[in-house]
Amino acid sequence: MQKHTISTSDSLFQRAQELLPGGVNSPVRAFKAVGGHPIFMKSAKGAYLTDEDNNRYVDMINSWGPMILGHAPDFIEEAIREALPNSFSFGAPTRREVEMAELIIDMVPSVEKVRMVNSGTEATMSAIRVARGFTGRDKIIKFEGCYHGHGDSFLISAGSGAITLGVPDSPGVTKGVAQDTITVAFNDLEAVKTAVDLAKNQVAAIIIEPVVGNMGLVPPAEGFLQGLRDLCTKEGIVLIFDEVMTGFRLSRGGAQELFGVMPDMTTMGKIIGGGMPVGAYGGRREIMDFVAPAGPVYQAGTLSGNPIAMAAGLAMLRHLNENAATLYPELNRISDKMVNGMKANLQELGLNYTINQVGSMFSIFFTPQPVTDFTSAKTSDLTLFGKYFNSMLQKGIYLAPSQYETLFVSTAISDAVADEYLAANRAALAEIH
Ligand code: PLP
Repeated sequence: MQKHTISTSDSLFQRAQELLPGGVNSPVRAFKAVGGHPIFMKSAKGAYLTDEDNNRYVDMINSWGPMILGHAPDFIEEAIREALPNSFSFGAPTRREVEMAELIIDMVPSVEKVRMVNSGTEATMSAIRVARGFTGRDKIIKFEGCYHGHGDSFLISAGSGAITLGVPDSPGVTKGVAQDTITVAFNDLEAVKTAVDLAKNQVAAIIIEPVVGNMGLVPPAEGFLQGLRDLCTKEGIVLIFDEVMTGFRLSRGGAQELFGVMPDMTTMGKIIGGGMPVGAYGGRREIMDFVAPAGPVYQAGTLSGNPIAMAAGLAMLRHLNENAATLYPELNRISDKMVNGMKANLQELGLNYTINQVGSMFSIFFTPQPVTDFTSAKTSDLTLFGKYFNSMLQKGIYLAPSQYETLFVSTAISDAVADEYLAANRAALAEIH
């Protein structure tokens, strides 16, 4: 296959390295874990990205999750255009914020009140503050390899870009903060119970990605989420589902609806903004009424509920809400086709690797071992992953540039695009062995 020319991307990256730390505004974009230079994107539509050198790629990241309908759906563009003439920011309440809250509360089963913020990180940082205020306790439990954004309390055994760069415990996080975060292996309910016993009456919240995307895709074991629910109820701990990735993706009501387990609080991001910078946290009324100005826990934002971001997010959520009955089954059908095709490719080539999938999120791990937690995720052969990533890129498939990320399928991926992906997958697997 013809090697892509990426000279414009390369020269932009050279300039960027002088100007931005590592040449990027978010670490994993730098392609450090897979070698080579990042590709600078110029435009995107539907299933495809176009870079600065006019190469086209099937996008399997979809802006790290938000673009569940593929890039730039016409109706979201229209919603933004329609909102623009009324100006872009008021710093005062607007109609769309009310409509957005109504929609979120209608769609996400456990959410009775919600606060809009500007990113997933803000949502998780705020949620644990509220949980601490509500319970009067200091400690939180998180799971090894889960990523909840870059708030200090979460950069302890963190997944995603943190593990990709080998800094799951970041310098700059104080010992004082670190000692209030207890980490436990994902899917190990007994270890959670032990941790809670050891910190009796001190744990404010357990925060979890109900389906992990940030150590590669790792599903919860049967009964694990319900076990956490029961434990939290018994011990007066606030259970927080971080649905920044899974919200509005795994079903209309996210992972909580899919698994039928209700958290006390939910954090949201990505899809909720339709591609604009939006996050939210919500939960039971009595907990959310602790948030200022209703209650004493302070949290604020100059641009929170921004009218243009709300317009895009509302258009996205309305579409998902109205089309849920057909949209999610179809998204899952295409995702199943891709995963089953990959499994068939592995079998034909006599290769034994693990593929994890929940709905439209999936990962291949270059290990024969089942991947159920961070320890098993780390048995994946990263050199092989790097080769696979670069081979796929050459074939016009844009994957997450790290083993410790999930892929996201969009509804823009037609059967023909899925076939294009599977042909590249087969060729890449053959090439790297
Ligand atoms: N929580 C989860 C589960 C995430 O995957 C992410 C980002 O990838 C975040 C929180 C942080 O969101 P943001 O990058 O919008 O701050």
